[in-house]
Amino acid sequence: MIMTTQDAYAPDLFEREITVLNKAKQAKVNFSSHADHSALSELIDEYERVIREMRRVIAHSDRTERELNNANQRLRELTEALTFQNRHDGLTRLLNRTTLINEAEQLLKTTKSALIMIDIDHFKQINDRYGHPTGDRVLVGLADTLRSIIQPPALCGRLGGEEFAIVLPTNQLEEVISLAEKISEEIRNLRCESELGLRMTASLSITLARPGVNFDTLYLCGDDALYRAKHDGRNRIEVVPHPLNPT
Ligand code: GH3
Ligand code: MG
Ligand code: MG
Repeated sequence: MIMTTQDAYAPDLFEREITVLNKAKQAKVNFSSHADHSALSELIDEYERVIREMRRVIAHSDRTERELNNANQRLRELTEALTFQNRHDGLTRLLNRTTLINEAEQLLKTTKSALIMIDIDHFKQINDRYGHPTGDRVLVGLADTLRSIIQPPALCGRLGGEEFAIVLPTNQLEEVISLAEKISEEIRNLRCESELGLRMTASLSITLARPGVNFDTLYLCGDDALYRAKHDGRNRIEVVPHPLNPT
């Protein structure tokens, strides 16, 4: 038997309806006598009462079902929002550090990979000169640029402050260099706060890895290369030419 919401809410009402109907059938058989006539009108009254109650229960259960559906929808939306918050950086909406590292670890286990690290040059001066809110908008502008260039399965995240990282599922050097050059040029061309004429550059490093290299090793090597890019004058890309091997 198919159970409807109404059945679940009012099983006794349906029992009562069947009883009343059975009595009505019986009364119809015996209709010849006068006494049965009043019994029949009592039955009709009872039947109307049952139907009224059933309507009320059905209306209530419909409303309850609608409310339940709405609550489920709100719960789904909240869960999605919380999952997004948990995985992304609050300011730039790129992957946050933890998510980036966890997902990079998975990718690195089985895949030839590359890490591009990006650090804005003299970012502190932007904060000092124009204020932190402007600095924040610059970070958001740069993140939007990265998002428009980097597509999944590549990972793109904010490591912290004005440092970003991209993890690619390839260790083809030319391919990675051409992507890093594109990023570097897009950052030079960025006009985040056009009325201020604000311009910026970034230093980048490229480190390649064979499958099985762990993220810490790759990151350490990338950070060293980034330091060299800064030391050698900034606004440049420092490349570690040979892919790292797993230890
Ligand atoms: P370098 O070229 O050597 O990288 O110099 P830099 O000024 O970019 O680097 P430094 O590490 O000296 O300064 C980074 C600054 O970034 C300092 C810090 O206040 C700022 N910063 C970190 N996180 C945020 C943020 O979320 N918003 C803003 N507006 N500034 C931030
Ligand atoms: Mg930095
Ligand atoms: Mg910097």
